Amino acid sequence: MTAGPAHGSNDPCCEDAGAPAAPRTWTVDEHLADVLTAAAPLPAVEVDLLDALGRPLAADVTAAVDLPPFDNSSMDGYALRSADAAPVALAVVGDIAAGAAELPEVGPGQAARIMTGAPVPPGADAVAPVEWTDGGSGTGEPADAMTAAAADETVHETVQVLRPVAAGAHIRRRGSDVTAGSTVLTAGTVLGPAQLGLLAAIGRATVTVRRRPRVAVLSTGSELVQPGEPIGPGRISDSNSFTLAAAARAAGAEAVRIGGVPDDPAVLRRVLQEQLADADLIVTSGGVSVGAYDVVKEALQPLHGGEDLGGVDFRRLRMQPGKPQGFGRLGADGVPLLALPGNPVSSYISFELFVRPLIRTMLGAPDVHRPVVPAVCTADLTSPAGRRQFLRGRYGGDGTVTPVGGASSHLVGALAHADCLIAVPEETTVLPAGSRVDVVLLTD
Ligand code: AMP
Ligand code: MG
Repeated sequence: MTAGPAHGSNDPCCEDAGAPAAPRTWTVDEHLADVLTAAAPLPAVEVDLLDALGRPLAADVTAAVDLPPFDNSSMDGYALRSADAAPVALAVVGDIAAGAAELPEVGPGQAARIMTGAPVPPGADAVAPVEWTDGGSGTGEPADAMTAAAADETVHETVQVLRPVAAGAHIRRRGSDVTAGSTVLTAGTVLGPAQLGLLAAIGRATVTVRRRPRVAVLSTGSELVQPGEPIGPGRISDSNSFTLAAAARAAGAEAVRIGGVPDDPAVLRRVLQEQLADADLIVTSGGVSVGAYDVVKEALQPLHGGEDLGGVDFRRLRMQPGKPQGFGRLGADGVPLLALPGNPVSSYISFELFVRPLIRTMLGAPDVHRPVVPAVCTADLTSPAGRRQFLRGRYGGDGTVTPVGGASSHLVGALAHADCLIAVPEETTVLPAGSRVDVVLLTD
């Protein structure tokens, strides 16, 4: 879908085409490639297991123990010698609960009552589930597993085993799942519930991941009030700072939300200066297009006075929504800054396409992009020539996708009901229902 830089009057995103030199535009892929040059994995840190949720492992993990750590029973029942062929009455020589340390020796003609997860005693080579026995009742009738195993406090002197039990039956062998010394998870694996459970199972209390990027999220606009504050005439609630800070956290970052910086370049510069001390990444919304009061542009273009905070390049991308974007590095440490457009849908899509991969790179993820899957679109679509369009959609379990809301970038109501983006290629202008499209899945 990548095309080279556009020139001349056939580029519909350049309103001033025909002027002596049409301004350069960037494709989504070109901009993303530039943004990713600003990212490298952050230092590794050792954190408690639950703090690592969603982060990629920074180093391979080797098990120091076998799993299971000892031969244990997979059933409530009786540990016995398989050579004692059923039907047979066995003398019950012990009762082994999970966690038991002292184990009876099981000799020929003997059995030990055993609970799930309890160590298999020496001498036994199989476990008869309680329902294959009479549970010691003396009736010779199969025991009810629920009552016999769970509720029966009494350990009877003998048990009738009613069915033959093969050697090894119902025994979970030491090391049959994980062997000590083996690599159980490799660097880059994203730690979800099952991976964290495995780390705990092998006795690890902490794990090495990358430090969470500290992301400062600033929304700009003198029209913004914070949710809950009275909304005066012409004012709107600041939603972008919440969407973007939440998206940063969902991507694995620590996010500081600074809502509603007014359209005053001096104020914005002061806030940026403050954030530069701590931030690994700064994300702004609003103030990057071609209107008056485009505060981010004004504050960051050295021409507009004050100390030069660093070079931020303001660009037009061949995408919709999200055409105006800023990208650069600020301050002595070259902290990356992404200046996203202000329209809520534009800023969120820009975050997903450009900021999230940067955060995932800082976290050391091997694959920093959202999954893209093919789908059949259920509705007719039109799309502007020369721009990659990202429409909001709902991805059906049957491989279809249905657009949600229209193409306009202020539709926050519809955005909240979408779970994917329908990517319409630059060259496509008409897409009849039933066409195959690429869909960017937004769900974690
Ligand atoms: P701008 O890019 O600053 O011109 O903003 C474009 C549009 O997005 C305007 O309608 C703004 O009011 C709106 N907008 C900008 N910032 C926010 C925000 N933080 N929350 C909600 N809407 C916003
Ligand atoms: Mg604005």
